[in-house]
Amino acid sequence: MVRRMGLFDVHAHLTHPRLRADLEAVLARAQAAGVSTIVCNGLNPADNERVRALAAAHRSVRPAFGLYPVDAVLGRMEAMGIDYPRDEGPFEPMESVRWVREHAGEAFAIGEVGLDGHWVPPALWAEQEAIFRRLVEVALEADRPLIVHSRKREARAFEILREMGARRVCWHCFGGRVRLAQRIAEHGHWLSIPAIAPRHEAFRRMLQVLPRERLLLETDCPYLAPEPGGRSEPAHVAVTARLAAELWGEPEPAVVRRFEDNFTALFGVPP
Ligand SMILES: [Zn+2]
Repeated sequence: MVRRMGLFDVHAHLTHPRLRADLEAVLARAQAAGVSTIVCNGLNPADNERVRALAAAHRSVRPAFGLYPVDAVLGRMEAMGIDYPRDEGPFEPMESVRWVREHAGEAFAIGEVGLDGHWVPPALWAEQEAIFRRLVEVALEADRPLIVHSRKREARAFEILREMGARRVCWHCFGGRVRLAQRIAEHGHWLSIPAIAPRHEAFRRMLQVLPRERLLLETDCPYLAPEPGGRSEPAHVAVTARLAAELWGEPEPAVVRRFEDNFTALFGVPP
């Protein structure tokens, strides 16, 4: 009997216009690649609604509701005259947090949420942090895992999560120092590795040095494709699984089972 591989993608943006157009084909390819679960992450109120509808329509899609850390302060950034490429918004942040709280019961996870110091100027960091804390509270109250985005503010995000006692946390596409990633993993959080890993030195290193029981698979699709300039999609998690098998010198089915176990440990259900 051929065992269907339980691959998964903990961080997808299936609602992105670049994926929405041929979504049925994207989902079919994911299934053919052995991907049984795709956690679709919401960015803002309109996107959360789209994620919710998508999850209701497709068995393999699980909804994560969140507020992207840039979207969280977008109105304030615009008022300061800062240019940011966006399709929708700005959003009233507390209204957005309220929506996530009201729908937390039907969420598979809370995400994506976090801190971003790349696009967001230091003058707005305190406000961004306050919103992040509200969303962490929502996840803790509803007992839901968090899917965290952090860019240039990894150490601060880790401080806040530790201080608030958040245990079920997945750091998506971690861009900080590998040494900090090690501390995060040793603390008991999980880190998901995108399919760009074969051509990305830090992600290769993370696969090699982090405790294997703390690693998960993601794509951040449509971004971070395995080929430069390409479009990523959930089927590509198989690329990272294959790379892990190669780096660890383990057969691929054993590696996939390990990732499956890690998923179950964080989310409380198998992929
Ligand atoms: Zn994302």
